[in-house]
Amino acid sequence: MTDQVEGGNTESLGEVILKGETICPGIAIGPAFLLEPEFLVAKKNIPSDKVGPEQRRYTAAVRLVQEQFAERVREIQDATLPEAAAIFSAFGAMLSDAELTESVLGRISAESVNAEWALEEEAKKLIRLFDAMADPYLQARAEDVRELVDSILRALIRAEGTQAGRYVSPEKGQVLVSGHMFPRAAMQAQQDGAAAFATESNALFAHAAILLRGFRIPSVGGIAGLGSVVFEGDNIIVNANEGVVVVRPSAESIEEHTARLDVPGLPLEVRAEEGWATRDGTHVHLLANIESPDQLDFAYESGLEGVGLFRTEFLALTSGSIPSEEKQCGVYQKVIQASSGKRICIRTFDIGADKQSPTLYRNVARNPAMGTRGIRRHLSADLDEFKTQVRAILRAAAGSNADVGILLPVVTTVDEVKLARQHIETVKSELNVSGTPYSNETKVGVMIEVPAAAIAIKDMLAEADFVSVGTNDLLQHFMAADRDNEDVLKYNNFEHPAFLWLMRHIIDQAAELGRVEDVTVCGEAASRANLVVIMLRLGYRAFSIAPVALAGVQQAIERLDLCADQA
Ligand code: PEP
Ligand code: MG
Repeated sequence: MTDQVEGGNTESLGEVILKGETICPGIAIGPAFLLEPEFLVAKKNIPSDKVGPEQRRYTAAVRLVQEQFAERVREIQDATLPEAAAIFSAFGAMLSDAELTESVLGRISAESVNAEWALEEEAKKLIRLFDAMADPYLQARAEDVRELVDSILRALIRAEGTQAGRYVSPEKGQVLVSGHMFPRAAMQAQQDGAAAFATESNALFAHAAILLRGFRIPSVGGIAGLGSVVFEGDNIIVNANEGVVVVRPSAESIEEHTARLDVPGLPLEVRAEEGWATRDGTHVHLLANIESPDQLDFAYESGLEGVGLFRTEFLALTSGSIPSEEKQCGVYQKVIQASSGKRICIRTFDIGADKQSPTLYRNVARNPAMGTRGIRRHLSADLDEFKTQVRAILRAAAGSNADVGILLPVVTTVDEVKLARQHIETVKSELNVSGTPYSNETKVGVMIEVPAAAIAIKDMLAEADFVSVGTNDLLQHFMAADRDNEDVLKYNNFEHPAFLWLMRHIIDQAAELGRVEDVTVCGEAASRANLVVIMLRLGYRAFSIAPVALAGVQQAIERLDLCADQA
């Protein structure tokens, strides 16, 4: 870690309040950690009286880098690597060249902007100049400029690392600030003990948003212009109860919010015994969506009846590798044993789309959400991985009195279900042969998240013990609008008449078969009180929700009178 560069104090830039949308409720405060390099170099306007300190911040950063290069030259010379030493000497010389420094300082004052932005703009000009040169030797100097600029940027933000990824890991209690939402960012927030999360992205059904809710990290999304006002290290309040962030809060704002610091979604009064019902007495089942076994206690303390969706792929994504059969079996056992007498649906790995990692699976298809993912992966190259997971679940369920289901993700055709069931039967035969205890009671369910599966719901129900409607993917596929792409989010409208037709079709067909009780909705729509009301009116009776959403969903159910609707 480099020394702190003087003059980086942005407190005097003043408080800025920005409005967004709640991803996960709660209130927290902490120093900002900018997750993406683009955010670090985003253009930020500074008042004219801050131009001098900003210029001094830049020259101090340059000085620091010069010292670092000189130090490296000494180290390398000691190690007798004269060629490398010559490169760093050349970098040092480039830094001493007043031209770049003068142009950056000039831009800071001419445009009243932050040093990072001024440097990036000047660097781009220089890189373009070198790139355009005919001489390949001079062309290659463009890369040297990039490296030099990155070193100064690192010094400016007082951290180490590379421009390609993030410079350092955030520390506990920081507020993560981002432009986009990647599952990796949410997992990082949890692993590093982030106090809160604030993002410009309004992809509220994206997996990152789902994880933030699951981990109960106060989070606000859809904050336009966030990147242009927040500097690394700025104090920031995330008031996710009201969907607001306060950057560089005043003493009064800090005092006001400190009194209200809030852990999201504390459990409601436990009501597992009597369950939930609408005002007219229609019984409703509420289960939990979990991404990690650690989330189970909160779900059950809240009184939820079981687990409608365990997204197991996050076990693999957090560790960067598929856990061994023994490891998986241990995790599933923990969840199943804690769910005595309850329903628990363990979804097999839905790896692919935005849920992949370089070490695990790299789907380089142009449109990975429609590529090889979920059951398509299981039934192609990764059959062993699927069978291992099934074996782990069947073994974990041995001797349990929980109602365990294996849930198959991203199913498109009935043949896929038939094939998957055959493989499950093969696993059972193998367990029989080896005399390994397992549960023969385990059910097999199908995620309904591809329109073809939704339309053929009767055929799916004929092959499945239960189905779970994944409205996140179903909606994105039905409306041809990527759930993670902010530019097309407006199309992902659950209340569009065509989508409501599809939702009605699913439950009507299930009702014709007398199997409404085998249908649960587990997409994020089930965690939205207003959409739960619509689905109850359509005939759905079971929802698997983000546990933090329980208070709102419960209230909506209890206020609804389905008989009055019909009158
Ligand atoms: C869904 O698609 O609605 C769903 C529940 O699965 P996921 O969000 O994990 O893709
Ligand atoms: Mg899905």
